[in-house]
Amino acid sequence: MRAVIIGAGLGGLTFGAYLARDGWQVDVYDKNPKVGGVCALAEKNGYKWEQGPLILGDLLPGEPVCELLRELGIQLETIRAERGIEMPDYAMWRPDVYAGMYWRRDRLRQLFPEEKEGIHAYYRFYDDMLELRYRGGLAEKHPTPLNKLRLALAFLKVKKYVGLNAKELMERFFKTEKLRTLFTGILADFCASPEEFQGLGIPFLNFETAFDKRIPLTKNGKSYYPGYCYIKGGVQKLPEALAEAITSRGGAVHLNTVVDKILVEDGAAQGIILADGTRVPADLVVASGGGKEVFYGLVGAEHLDEHYRQVLDTFRPMEAVFMLHLGVDLDPMRFMKAPLCYYYKTYDIYSATKRLRAGEYHGGHDGFLISVDSAHAPEFAPSGHHAVTMYTIAPDTLAQGDWEAEKERWADELIALAEEHLPGLRDHITEKLILAAPDYRRLTHMAKCSFGGVVPIWKQENPAHKTPVKNLWFVGQQSENIGGVGNVTTGARAAYLQMKAEMGAPSGKKGAK
Ligand SMILES: Cc1cc2nc3c(=O)[nH]c(=O)nc-3n(C[C@H](O)[C@H](O)[C@H](O)COP(=O)(O)OP(=O)(O)OC[C@H]3O[C@@H](n4cnc5c(N)ncnc54)[C@H](O)[C@@H]3O)c2cc1C
Repeated sequence: MRAVIIGAGLGGLTFGAYLARDGWQVDVYDKNPKVGGVCALAEKNGYKWEQGPLILGDLLPGEPVCELLRELGIQLETIRAERGIEMPDYAMWRPDVYAGMYWRRDRLRQLFPEEKEGIHAYYRFYDDMLELRYRGGLAEKHPTPLNKLRLALAFLKVKKYVGLNAKELMERFFKTEKLRTLFTGILADFCASPEEFQGLGIPFLNFETAFDKRIPLTKNGKSYYPGYCYIKGGVQKLPEALAEAITSRGGAVHLNTVVDKILVEDGAAQGIILADGTRVPADLVVASGGGKEVFYGLVGAEHLDEHYRQVLDTFRPMEAVFMLHLGVDLDPMRFMKAPLCYYYKTYDIYSATKRLRAGEYHGGHDGFLISVDSAHAPEFAPSGHHAVTMYTIAPDTLAQGDWEAEKERWADELIALAEEHLPGLRDHITEKLILAAPDYRRLTHMAKCSFGGVVPIWKQENPAHKTPVKNLWFVGQQSENIGGVGNVTTGARAAYLQMKAEMGAPSGKKGAK
């Protein structure tokens, strides 16, 4: 049985690796010269940078992506990661001396004594949600009556918050925007305003373990808290390993190759047509990339049903990023306590998100992040130098002006803002690589750059893995809520298992396991 995969990003490669493991003949096609999509490292004159994901969830031992990789026979070395947050007028860096897993709660109580009760209530809710998460995992793995009962009891503790959106939830706990934004600011990264996001999800965007890598991930000897990490050698190691899992089993990855059409006959996918006109017949087609680009561009609206078309017309992908990669001969870690920090410059993320969607770029004045990539991968920079990545969320299309003409100016403005945190930065820049929306459009083959995936709007439906066209499956960031490395890889695995169950054929060739 032969499968073609469109896109050598994490979605396509994960699905392809499972197919190859189970005996399918797999051919992956990607327009770029490297595998990985947005995970491929950016490179220039001896420097390398992470151009997509900076820190990763779900990948530490025992976590879902690590388990998925184990199923595929892949092992990657990970390094625990942490981040700091600076708000407009207070900072949350981990303490020099470890002060336990609740140091943020204690610090917030000192900073906001008048909010003591709300802070206490939030952290009780946080603990209850983490328990619910743990019990949910256990009940899924071992659905015994006792585990199900414990899950139900854990749910009862948070039931009263179920109907609240993130804004309403924060208002329950805190009087000041200064505290609300600490927990909801990350939503601005996803181009969502707090009204759009389900309140119960807030603790999962604010795992305390993300802010101090010394916090243990176990409770009573059991894996309990999720953590964040880097992949040793950079995130590109992940798509490279997945591609290797395909090629080592007889599959092929065709780079620098654009797919122009998905062949559909009698309601079923029959293969693809490449940009040079080559027809590639296949029993199964798996597409990743932009939903509209795949279904309206490669498939044709006439092959879709009304519901799928309606989802394509209404789901909201994220906006773009403005990315500034710097090579520097100054050690940024002299000024940062963790190699990654989010610098928020506003407490009004509702207006920030609204302006973003109207095409107004804030130039870093609403916030940005700085990541020292060479802190986890010293080989990313020549000796004595450092690889630094800074980025902001940005509109795909500017209401005024255009990215190509103005990216140098925006980069200058961002450097000026960063100098408040990394004094003297401008005088220590030895290399610069700027990526704006048009660069990401080219990289992802999307008409509209959408960093990361789909805006996590509560109850929004995204284009489903199973499509109205028989033998055509859709994976990747636009089929998952939020997107991200964890969701995209585990989503592709779920799609693979669904496909396998529905096709009724356990493997691509007789006898394969
Ligand atoms: C700046 C940035 C920061 C991020 N930060 C994080 C983070 O901190 N943590 C996290 O977990 N995630 C993060 N993400 C998100 C995560 O990296 C993505 O959700 C995930 O990697 C997307 O994988 P994908 O396979 O869906 O898409 P992609 O990586 O876009 O891969 C799709 C590939 O398919 C190719 N393609 C599409 N159509 C065609 C065609 N017709 N012909 C040929 N090739 C085609 C594209 O060119 C591309 O190479 C970030 C992303 C970005 C951009």
